[in-house]
Amino acid sequence: MAKKFIRAIFPGSFDPITNGHMDVISRGIKLFDELIIAVGRSPIKNPFFSPEERVEMIAELIADMPGVCVESFDGLTVQYAAKKGADVILRGLRSLTDVQYEFKLAMTNRSVAGIETVFVMTTEQYGFTSSTLIREVAALGGDVSSLIPENVYKRVQQRLKKIALNP
Ligand code: ADP
Repeated sequence: MAKKFIRAIFPGSFDPITNGHMDVISRGIKLFDELIIAVGRSPIKNPFFSPEERVEMIAELIADMPGVCVESFDGLTVQYAAKKGADVILRGLRSLTDVQYEFKLAMTNRSVAGIETVFVMTTEQYGFTSSTLIREVAALGGDVSSLIPENVYKRVQQRLKKIALNP
């Protein structure tokens, strides 16, 4: 039997993308033929970057990764997945707390749209990395350079300078 082509989406807010997300992406591309990183446009609490800026930074990071692309989307993840003809939703797990939330989300998505979710566990090193914490720590002057890719770190620095000039 011919091997089925599998397209996955990796949805999230990615505000900003972290080394933890990059770890999930590099594991995901080994499992699927095509991986679409899907940046949700729905509003989040205290956003740092616009969806366009988040897409731009991710595009720089995946430029050399065949089979990986990035887009933003509005509305429900499952509707976006159906529109893209995706077979699978990819999500990352850091801790048992993630499992509780992700379990509910995956069950809901499966019951409303029949789509499966595949989880990958992050490397231990990034088990505590979250975009929310990075935004908070960076805003208070903490050094987040080891937790986010270099291009993202530069943009965070620029954003903080801009905020400092126009509080
Ligand atoms: P959302 O707002 O949808 O949770 P995020 O951008 O915070 O969006 O996360 C997208 C996905 O990436 C989620 O499955 C989340 O659990 C996973 N993720 C976030 N940070 C990490 C990390 N450090 N290691 C592994 N997975 C992560």
